[in-house]
Amino acid sequence: MIVILQSNIVQGSPEYRQIVDFLNGKPNITTRVHREVGASQTLTEIYLIGDTLGLDKTEIESLAGVERVVRISEEYRIIGRHRDDGRSTGFEYNGVRFDQSNLNIFAGLCAVDTREHVEKMMQTLKEHGQLCTRMGAYKPRTNPYAFQGYGAKCLPWVFELAGKYGIKVITMEVAHDSHMDEIRQALDQCGHPTGVMLQIGTRNTQNFELLKMVGRQQEFPILLKRGFGITLEESLNAAEYLASEGNHKIIFALRGMKTNLGDPHRNLVDFAHVPVIKRLTRMPVCIDPSHSVGSREQDPDGMLDVLHVAAQGVLVGANMVLADFHPAPQKALVDGPQALLLEELPYFLEDIAIAREAYEKRRSLAQSFAQQQLGPQRTLSGA
Ligand code: PEP
Ligand code: MN
Repeated sequence: MIVILQSNIVQGSPEYRQIVDFLNGKPNITTRVHREVGASQTLTEIYLIGDTLGLDKTEIESLAGVERVVRISEEYRIIGRHRDDGRSTGFEYNGVRFDQSNLNIFAGLCAVDTREHVEKMMQTLKEHGQLCTRMGAYKPRTNPYAFQGYGAKCLPWVFELAGKYGIKVITMEVAHDSHMDEIRQALDQCGHPTGVMLQIGTRNTQNFELLKMVGRQQEFPILLKRGFGITLEESLNAAEYLASEGNHKIIFALRGMKTNLGDPHRNLVDFAHVPVIKRLTRMPVCIDPSHSVGSREQDPDGMLDVLHVAAQGVLVGANMVLADFHPAPQKALVDGPQALLLEELPYFLEDIAIAREAYEKRRSLAQSFAQQQLGPQRTLSGA
């Protein structure tokens, strides 16, 4: 059960103390407080754990300072979408809104290599009005002798360039809590010219100790990739790990499943799960067409598979697209073969916009159909 307090109720106020005393007085119930600090208001939620079945929802809702009470099912207690759950589906970070009804594009380098490439990428993003990018500094690789990413060394100049080109959010994979500390330090040193979204890669989806460490901080939002060989339920539980440690700013990313059944694509595209995740949870959903397809193969009309699957995800309501680009893919140190070219960025953005428009039309169509269905019933019950 979640007790949502009115936004003006602060810790230590008489109403707050009265609510907490009331809840603590109930047998076999423990409370856990979560505070979401926003730009204009602070929201407080009190999670009740234990024997909540006997609690009277209406009684708690009648206490001064309580906005609403939500009964939660066992599944995905925090990230889940529960009955009567009108809570928001997203968050704002560094001026950018992320939720289940909008769309953000993160085009960028799979791995940071040279300053020149990073600068060309960011300059092109700025020319096309983009505020977000992807930049891998820590690269967990299958082969121990493969390039592992420039790590902390590249962070100061990557962040400075992001500031120079107006990039608000960079998504960047972390594989260890020291990476998170290095990112925080570099941002502090260069005066926070940009924001960072911590990415947990598919190889670490069930690295529970990493999930706990990343979930324990609230400074950075988190992009969690679905594990490439586990069920959707297992990956959603990984997201719940993050949330249970306190960070509720989570985006869930589909990136394809590892199975030969997807051949010749690098992974079997699983974007049909976008609406499933939106139905089960309140997390915005990201798709990664680059790592799903893994090549620049195209159809007989010259349309790239990467663009086709990106459109598929957006058409069913994806909220974020992660896409590999590179100014000179033949020189890329990681995943060059799947990278789109900088000159393809405006084409890619327009293609995505077409799919998004189609999704919005589909959504309006569904809404007006539902409205029509409701119409006669209303008349009946009103009669
Ligand atoms: C990436 O996005 O750079 C990446 C390595 O993705 P994944 O963890 O999905 O393989
Ligand atoms: Mn990659």
